[in-house]
Amino acid sequence: MTPPPDRGMVSRRADGVEASGIRKIFERVQFMEDPINLSIGQAHFDVPEPVKEAAIAAIREGFNRYTVTQGLPELNERILARLADTYGYGGKDSLVTSGVSGGLLLGFMGLLDPGDHVLLPDPYFTMYPVLAGLVGATWSPYEMQPGTTLTKEALEAALTERSRAILVNSPSNPTGRCLTAEEMDVVGAFAKAHDLVVVSDEIYDEFVYDGPHVSAAGHVDEERLLLLGGFSKTYGMPGWRMGYACGPAPLVDAMRRMQQFTFVCAPSMAQAACLAAMDVDMSEQIAEYRGKRDRMMAGLAPAYEFPKPGGSFYMYPPLPAGASTDEFMERALEQKLLIVPGKAFSARATHFRLSFAAPDDVLERGIEALLGLAESTAGA
Ligand code: PMP
Repeated sequence: MTPPPDRGMVSRRADGVEASGIRKIFERVQFMEDPINLSIGQAHFDVPEPVKEAAIAAIREGFNRYTVTQGLPELNERILARLADTYGYGGKDSLVTSGVSGGLLLGFMGLLDPGDHVLLPDPYFTMYPVLAGLVGATWSPYEMQPGTTLTKEALEAALTERSRAILVNSPSNPTGRCLTAEEMDVVGAFAKAHDLVVVSDEIYDEFVYDGPHVSAAGHVDEERLLLLGGFSKTYGMPGWRMGYACGPAPLVDAMRRMQQFTFVCAPSMAQAACLAAMDVDMSEQIAEYRGKRDRMMAGLAPAYEFPKPGGSFYMYPPLPAGASTDEFMERALEQKLLIVPGKAFSARATHFRLSFAAPDDVLERGIEALLGLAESTAGA
């Protein structure tokens, strides 16, 4: 059948998805010599050797077929045991996913019907509103700007009659903000009062610098918590597409059934390697990242004032007073400095995101460029 003339080849669903602002910068950088790239959302270190060896051994041993849909039983057991030991998480149902992205898509598909509503943080990771749109859900933002406190009132202001879920992301991409235990309790009580499911994206759980990670587990009732975690950031393996989802049995089972007919399973050799990864101590790399955060804060302090991020590898400084976002980004590019405009993560074009997951010399050049940009803006 010929599609109606106004529609073209592409579905309306796909038509509504724009190329990610971050990807656009990524494309531009490919043609730039020696850029100061503070735009990328992946650790700068490589996969630890034992993890590489485990993947290679798995391939050599012929571990190249489909695994069971939910992922290797040993890996699921390890993931649940880690969550139980670290946060006292008592859930028994889990699914190995193709990255946290896979878990988010299956989670949204499992939870939300067309017309349902989800609360998202603002600023948000760019994928969340797009996924809400893909499943036909609506969303509204709740305030997560650094320097604010998450309150019941702020959450209630975002609630609608069709609200089914609230997404939390701590430590946050793009701000690095970590929710406190008190704030996580507010989320838990709010979800209970309004019968919502909490989707907690904890992909940066290892990248915390000022105290232990506050998981939603322990603060949100387990029967209404979908906990998503991953391997991409922690072990420097974003290309291996590994993550997991833990939650109430009916939801995890629905996600497993949908995984069966979409992703099928997470990559087999990467699953074998993740078992090895869970034995690798990454505290040295995390300490290094703490040092990078502190160096960036100190370096930017003369010109940029903003709360110190407690986790992830991002910072979210305000644009210098009087700067427009497009002009600031363009001038940054002239300096070969790649950062991401806050409007990629928020309705407010007031900030920018920088990633300190970069070698120290790149960070030093970044500090210098950013100080120069602030000075020339002030003088403009
Ligand atoms: N959640 C957040 C907050 C992220 O920053 C990312 C990666 N940028 C993801 C999920 C997806 O990660 P992956 O699919 O590689 O696990």
